[in-house]
Amino acid sequence: MTGTGDPVVIVGAGHGGATLAALLRQSGYTGGVVLVGSEVHHPYHRPPLSKKFAGPEAHQLLRPAEFYSGNDIRLRLGTAVTAIDRSAMRVRLADGTELGYRALVLATGSTPRPLPVPGADAAGVLTLRTLDDARALGAALERGDRLAIVGGGYVGMEVAAVARSSGIAVTVVEREERVLARVAGAELSRRLTDAHRLRGTEIRTGAQVRAIRTADGRARGIELADGTLVAADTVLVGIGAAPDDGLAHRSGLACDGGVLVDEQGRTSDPAVFAIGDVARRPLPGTDGPVRLESIPNVTEQARQVTAALLGAAHPAPEVPWFWSDQFDLKLKIAGLVGPGHRVVAREGRKPGAFALFHLTPGNTVAAVETANAPGDFVAGKKLVGDRTPVDPVRLADPAVSLRDIAATGAGV
Ligand SMILES: Cc1cc2nc3c(=O)[nH]c(=O)nc-3n(C[C@H](O)[C@H](O)[C@H](O)COP(=O)(O)OP(=O)(O)OC[C@H]3O[C@@H](n4cnc5c(N)ncnc54)[C@H](O)[C@@H]3O)c2cc1C
Repeated sequence: MTGTGDPVVIVGAGHGGATLAALLRQSGYTGGVVLVGSEVHHPYHRPPLSKKFAGPEAHQLLRPAEFYSGNDIRLRLGTAVTAIDRSAMRVRLADGTELGYRALVLATGSTPRPLPVPGADAAGVLTLRTLDDARALGAALERGDRLAIVGGGYVGMEVAAVARSSGIAVTVVEREERVLARVAGAELSRRLTDAHRLRGTEIRTGAQVRAIRTADGRARGIELADGTLVAADTVLVGIGAAPDDGLAHRSGLACDGGVLVDEQGRTSDPAVFAIGDVARRPLPGTDGPVRLESIPNVTEQARQVTAALLGAAHPAPEVPWFWSDQFDLKLKIAGLVGPGHRVVAREGRKPGAFALFHLTPGNTVAAVETANAPGDFVAGKKLVGDRTPVDPVRLADPAVSLRDIAATGAGV
């Protein structure tokens, strides 16, 4: 890629799109870069939206607005890419204009899954993905609305924590037998459930929503399959997100639960890349491609695509990781939690600090879930990457340093 002719066009001005544009410039790419985003806002951080969701703290720009003009990155905000003509290497925008590209990067993210029950379109039924969503939620909670959250995933549990901390009545309704069932181990779910209940959040697991009860077009509560009514003025639906891969589908790119890419972010068309929530990517140690929704994941993929576009060697794969804040618990998770792991708990010296190690049958560390234990997180993440067997007894003993465990492996 020489940097002449048509620009690199990035579809989606979210975390991945903005990071990639910046990385291209930092890496010396001198060709045109156009960042097209359907939201009107300059690219911003999404994680604060479920941890603050109102006030200026919730609106944190990824980079100052002047960064883009100062680095010759053309922003086209408030307009979506509606079609891709791959043979002509052009995209069409909702405002009717067209752009030629030398490389196209899809960074379109994901969209909250809708709740397929009667009443789900009533006023007061919200989802949380964008800054505008967060503002709507913040306004509802400032009124002191009672909050029901459908879905005990990370976003739902984070919102529950912030709302409870402001004294709001919160009920979490989860279809599975435990919260965070898709993304966390059973022990972490149990500890977090305890932490939430201790602070007054009502958590109902194994509970199916039958309908949103409404009056005058406004949500008034949730009706569960067993007939129970959970009264609420605001209902937040947080039942996961689906990849925003419609554009890729329509243009004939290979998709299967997200846009399929290789370890350089390349799709089935060598001139088109996909990164972040929309992409399904290979990851060492997994059986097939995975779709991850996290900032470290999209950042890693932005690095991969930068290297590919500059013809540089592709970066070494990283251990996936994620963070979440709930009350005073700072959670950091590395690796992927899966079935068949044996969990070894390592309790921290400070109250509320712990690390849960997920071991494979061969005693390698597949994942580590930590709370208020940044040192254990860093060492645990390294153990996940090393994939050498460890001694579970020493792992559980906080007196034995994780560095020693990493150095000696399963031996004593
Ligand atoms: C409330 C919340 C809290 C989170 N907290 C954490 C956290 O604590 N830690 C963590 O690691 N991750 C967290 N995440 C996940 C993280 O924010 C995402 O994984 C990350 O933003 C993905 O980046 P992306 O570029 O793939 O998508 P996004 O950042 O979602 O950006 C996609 C952008 O593309 C735009 N777009 C879509 N289609 C088009 C089109 N056709 N044309 C133009 N623009 C288009 C969208 O409007 C959007 O602005 C959180 C997510 C949410 C919603």
